[in-house]
Amino acid sequence: MTNILLIYTGGTIGMVKEYDSGILKAFNFNKLLKHIPELNQLDCHIDSISFEHPIDSSNMNPTHWIEIANIIEEHYESHDGFVVLHGSDTMSYTASALSFMLENLAKPVIFTGSQLPIGDLRTDAKENLITSIQIAALRTGGKPVVREVGLYFEYKLYRANRTTKINAEHFQAFASLNYPQLIESGVHLTVFKEYLLKVHPRKKFKVHKIMDRNVAILKLFPGLAAVVLESILNIPNLRGLILETYGAGNAPNEPWLVDILRKGISQGIHIVNVTQCSGGSVQMGHYETSEQLKNLQVINGKDITTEAAMAKLMYLLGSNISESLFKTVFETPLRGEMQ
Ligand code: ASP
Repeated sequence: MTNILLIYTGGTIGMVKEYDSGILKAFNFNKLLKHIPELNQLDCHIDSISFEHPIDSSNMNPTHWIEIANIIEEHYESHDGFVVLHGSDTMSYTASALSFMLENLAKPVIFTGSQLPIGDLRTDAKENLITSIQIAALRTGGKPVVREVGLYFEYKLYRANRTTKINAEHFQAFASLNYPQLIESGVHLTVFKEYLLKVHPRKKFKVHKIMDRNVAILKLFPGLAAVVLESILNIPNLRGLILETYGAGNAPNEPWLVDILRKGISQGIHIVNVTQCSGGSVQMGHYETSEQLKNLQVINGKDITTEAAMAKLMYLLGSNISESLFKTVFETPLRGEMQ
């Protein structure tokens, strides 16, 4: 029988409404399992582990990511697949981070959650959870079908580091605008094999646990003042900045902006150009308004999401990559996160 490990971190899926205030709060995992007797009917063995204090995912930070990575590392040999229950708010960040932290992953790690608590009559939690477990247990020729970090929500499995939360109301809360879905759940589970990440069977599974937090994100907007950009780049110990630019990677080509960025880069800060658009790619040099960034040797984020760019930046800054190789490595797809 396939062994699946369910890792409960918190999120709406396991929340209950507080009696007096009506506020949603995370609750005990064992109570959550009682709401889904259907789990006993699945054709796999399920073990579960819960965070000692389940959290709303707005409280997630890299320490929690390491906790998830540690659980997976400890159970990597004993289990065939992993399902991580997580709040949807920062799920794309955590799942992207795990995709980098788990190098040469050869088993499925499926993130899921829900928009309504599992105890709610109209909940989306049951389908999300049950299908995620089925996907984690899918095998062909004795091997897992999915061998990467995925995110399953509302009938679709996506590559996790390609996703973004796009809706706080609809059950379809996530989108992957630059990469096709990996599996669709209808009457049958349809697997789009050609889009699954290929693994190197002989490479050893390795868990990376150093994520550098000396990073920041700045979203450009018309009217951005020089002092704002300057102040950010002057943050003590800052090592990386994600610059969310317009359209195909464009920014004002005014001298003050170029000068401030040049100064930051000369101080060793890695600046990554990521588009504010949900879909499409940075193309530095396509417009006059991105040529200056190209000339400054700003890192090309191509079609990466902001969430994956942040995770990759923390991961690469935490690895021992030489300063001269950093740009090349960032611009190379490591886990299928960019074209
Ligand atoms: N605030 C919740 C969380 O991210 C929302 C959810 O689970 O969907 O933990």
